[in-house]
Amino acid sequence: MSFSSLGLSAPLLKAVDEQQYTQPYPVQKEAIPAILKGRDVLGIAQTGSGKTAGFALPILEMFQGNKPVNNRYVNVLILVPTRELAIQILEVFQAFNAKLPQKAKIQAVYGGVSINPQMMQLRGTEILVATPGRLLDLVDHNAVKLSEVETLVLDEADKILSLGFKEEVDKIFALLPAKRQNVLFSATLGEDVEGLVSKILSNPVKIQI
Ligand code: AMP
Repeated sequence: MSFSSLGLSAPLLKAVDEQQYTQPYPVQKEAIPAILKGRDVLGIAQTGSGKTAGFALPILEMFQGNKPVNNRYVNVLILVPTRELAIQILEVFQAFNAKLPQKAKIQAVYGGVSINPQMMQLRGTEILVATPGRLLDLVDHNAVKLSEVETLVLDEADKILSLGFKEEVDKIFALLPAKRQNVLFSATLGEDVEGLVSKILSNPVKIQI
């Protein structure tokens, strides 16, 4: 099976080819068509499985043919446990995005660095990768608005919970519109992650790698 049978358009296929990805990894074979269809997804997959491109490619596809709007409403929110993961995900998105004729505006925000440059760069951001605490600070500063999020991704959900972000994540959910697409990736599926799954996913496509 090749990338061309997963429902991605020509510009995305070209970007994949330029990254020298010849064959989709198993998680990508399942996640890409499901996310493109607008389905909720539950992925149990480890780092190294290719999960990042599994959600980055269909998300970038959503921005082909859309007019960018220069406001503070983000369309896609990717919540992650750590600054390192935020940067890593941003880099995967940017590697593909750089090759696309129509580029999405992507930012990563995380704690441990000054908030002001992040506030200034947020205008017009369509895809936001964020750690929970810094995201809430930016919401409090009116630098970002979450009421028009169409797709929410929780990556490494087990780690988000084990690092103690449950309260922050619940506050963030309360700011999101009820009608949205939800994608959750976790390396493990313990009781606490199950709680999140039943809270936010509706009839998800289940992927276990
Ligand atoms: P991830 O699990 O998302 O952290 O990805 C693990 C690594 O696999 C990254 O270095 C990716 O660049 C690489 N990768 C992801 N998908 C593919 C693919 N289909 N073909 C070759 N390399 C890939």
